[in-house]
Amino acid sequence: MSTKRDYYEILGVQKGASQDEIKKAYRKVAMQFHPDRNPGDKAAEEKFKEAAEAYEVLSDADKRAQYDRFGHAGVQGNGRGFSGSGNMEDIFSQFGDIFGDDIFGSFFGGGGGRRGGQRMRGVRGSNLRIKIKLTYEEIAKGVTKQVKVKKHVPCTTCSGSGAKDKGSVQTCTTCGGSGQVRRVSNTFLGQMQTVTTCPSCNGEGTTITAKCGTCKGEGRMYGEETVTLDIPAGVQEGMQLSLGGRGNAGERGGPPGDLIVLIEEEQHKELHRDGLNVAYELHISFPDACFGTSVEVPTIDGRAKIKIPAGTQSGKIFRLKGKGFPGVNSYEKGDQLIYVNVWTPQNLSAEEKAQLEKMNGSPNFKPQPEKSDKSFFDKVREMFS
Ligand SMILES: [Zn+2]
Ligand SMILES: [Zn+2]
Repeated sequence: MSTKRDYYEILGVQKGASQDEIKKAYRKVAMQFHPDRNPGDKAAEEKFKEAAEAYEVLSDADKRAQYDRFGHAGVQGNGRGFSGSGNMEDIFSQFGDIFGDDIFGSFFGGGGGRRGGQRMRGVRGSNLRIKIKLTYEEIAKGVTKQVKVKKHVPCTTCSGSGAKDKGSVQTCTTCGGSGQVRRVSNTFLGQMQTVTTCPSCNGEGTTITAKCGTCKGEGRMYGEETVTLDIPAGVQEGMQLSLGGRGNAGERGGPPGDLIVLIEEEQHKELHRDGLNVAYELHISFPDACFGTSVEVPTIDGRAKIKIPAGTQSGKIFRLKGKGFPGVNSYEKGDQLIYVNVWTPQNLSAEEKAQLEKMNGSPNFKPQPEKSDKSFFDKVREMFS
């Protein structure tokens, strides 16, 4: 993952680039490295795929926001790669909206954006969204979870073809199986040949004469899949991980959608998350504050012992360095901040009252904040800066 290039850099655009600029930049890069123009050139193909991946993320407002915040980890999820990774057919299927509206459409095979000779099977499955609740402890270390997902899966009777049997799949008579029809039209540029998706078979190249009884020809059915989620350490509430190809199965053998996992945080009984930092409120007794003591505090990684020095004031903040959350896409680590509250008794016996009244006259009990002491608000500000 660390070797991945920045998406903006791949497309050669600024971070704040508009959707239009991104589209234009992608078109330029895709044209340059398109496999039809660089036959057999592996390096060009890699660049082509890289650009497609960058475009897939940056052209999607949600994914782009995730990427801007969390880098590659925000859109990759488990390092399984983005939804179209390696699958040229998926990449070409994007071209419909990029190249389909102008002359480049015919260069890439027009309409559906398919390459000459390559047929697209079925209809792509939809993306599936699930939520997953994680404890602070799980987030701190990262966690692998098995979840059962109810979704469309390929029909087991027909293996996703939607046909009753092999004999009920026929080559489309309109397009002869190519999935495309060619049309010659006269334009001001001269005679132009355009290629569009075959209307009879929707570009699949085949038609079904008898449908599978189990799925009624859809090629998929409701089922369940156990998916393993590798959640990286440091994720946050609201973050989304995308698992390419683990969403709903497509119709009639079409590619599956993605599985989008929305992260939720389970509230902790004693700790409170604040970005990478963890806050904890510690209450100590007045005598402990006077004499000093040693206490155990909860952390997101077991318990830790801390020393409270004699004469500790209410409002003092102790910092446990590196005991906060790790950054999801960095080596950064937050701290745990311990806010000290000195407990003032609310009920006193007659004897306690008498003793306190006696002490109240002593000069040691008069507040004497040192001039050099920073104010409470300065301290808080400093902790969070
Ligand atoms: Zn079936
Ligand atoms: Zn056809």
